[in-house]
Amino acid sequence: MDELKVDERGFYGRFGGAYVPEILYRCVHELQDAYKPIMESKEFEHEYEQLLKDYVGRPSPLYYASRMSERYGCKLYLKREDLNHTGAHKINNTIGQILLARKMGKSRIIAETGAGQHGVATATVCALMDMKCEIFMGKTDVERQHTNVERMRMLGATVHPVTTGNMTLSDACSEAIRDWCCHPQDTFYIVGSTMGPHPYPDIVAKMQSVISKEIKWQLQEKVGRDYPDYLVACLGGGSNAAGTIYHYIEDERVKIVLAEAGGHGVDTDCTAATIHCGTEGIIHGARTLVMQTDDGQIEEAFTISAGLDYPGIGPMHAHLSQIGREEVLAINDDEAIYAGYELTRMEGIIPAIESAHAIAVLKKKQWKADDVIVLTVSGRGDKDVETYLENKVMAKEYGNF
Ligand SMILES: *Cc1c(COP(=O)(O)O)cnc(C)c1O
Repeated sequence: MDELKVDERGFYGRFGGAYVPEILYRCVHELQDAYKPIMESKEFEHEYEQLLKDYVGRPSPLYYASRMSERYGCKLYLKREDLNHTGAHKINNTIGQILLARKMGKSRIIAETGAGQHGVATATVCALMDMKCEIFMGKTDVERQHTNVERMRMLGATVHPVTTGNMTLSDACSEAIRDWCCHPQDTFYIVGSTMGPHPYPDIVAKMQSVISKEIKWQLQEKVGRDYPDYLVACLGGGSNAAGTIYHYIEDERVKIVLAEAGGHGVDTDCTAATIHCGTEGIIHGARTLVMQTDDGQIEEAFTISAGLDYPGIGPMHAHLSQIGREEVLAINDDEAIYAGYELTRMEGIIPAIESAHAIAVLKKKQWKADDVIVLTVSGRGDKDVETYLENKVMAKEYGNF
């Protein structure tokens, strides 16, 4: 079973590792040495748990979705990460990493953001901990995601619009790494997903593993056993999926089905389905699957969902999908929009469009009546209402507005 876990050098099978410029060796090694002892200390555990409870609002409910269960002929439970403070799972990670930064004596926080969700979650914990916060965000995204930019500024963060490349998430990551190279001493880089050089994928997966830790006892209470037949989640960089599966990776009774963003379709140029369309390469410090041209230029990802818009994928998922431990489906924009309306009308829950990709999996598989499915709703859809309305033709069945 060892092949399922990260090794000492940060590899998941052939993927992962730490491919960083020489100037960052020391920072990355410092973090590699520090993160486990700190995260395993009683003091850290206590502070982290307390904040998750009182500040984030955990445990997040595990909700039996009865109408959707009836519709799909299964027992569907929704893990409600949308109910967390700031509206998604990302805060589980930023709270943990800022505690780590403090314990390591760092005073300045940097982060990358695409849609702005990770930027907001980072600016939030920086306000909470009174830390200086600088966010790198592609100029295109700054323009598209104005509300989140204003939220970050209100929280006291400085937002740096990045004008290189396509001016989106991938370029913001590169710029954050560049900034880190210039300030290796006092700066902690809070990475937003299970990506980046080792140890970040492992740190983020561990911070998000609270999701499956809770699923275990919540399922025991609700169905009398602590494991489901299926786990379902959406896949951007891979952090909410990593948290959802973390404590079940070695449990063969549990099947894992994840949804990546197909955009207009995996047979078009407009897609973000890295596991379907990517090839092996190095992106932001890790060896993984990357959407790239034949000569290794990173291609821009495309999807209606800003949070899944990344041309790479965390090394853990590159590996687990390659060895067949997880099944990954590409869900196209229209299928996600439909699923978002469906959950809204069937259960009164407006999901983030990212999460709607996971909902769309329900339609794609055959279920048995006693199959227990736990599906993570990674975030709430308030931020996406305009996109849902602009694209409502994709959900004609629900089109009586
Ligand atoms: C950022 C985000 C995602 C994608 O990121 P992962 O690291 O793959 O989880 C999914 N859903 C929501 C609501 C997000 O904000």
